[in-house]
Amino acid sequence: MSQAAGSPEELFGLSQQPDVRSPAADQRQCSRKGCREQASWALLWNNPRIHTPSRRKVWLACAEHRDWLEEYLASRALWKQTVRVDDIPGDAG
Ligand SMILES: [Zn+2]
Repeated sequence: MSQAAGSPEELFGLSQQPDVRSPAADQRQCSRKGCREQASWALLWNNPRIHTPSRRKVWLACAEHRDWLEEYLASRALWKQTVRVDDIPGDAG
């Protein structure tokens, strides 16, 4: 478990907002189910069975879940690359 200290509001869940955030919001949130951390990393992946080879799908990951998501994709031979969220290719998605 992460020992990163949050504010008292965060620790007791008082700052949690209803899940009404627009997908178009600027904030880039971790793709891990149930995680609300801001993403620092973008995992680029491709499933050759359903995507053309040049296609790149993107999962966003916070620092804590980057490894988990990378292993998930790599174990299925889907993982291609991990980049900073600022470096996501314009045609990925
Ligand atoms: Zn996360």
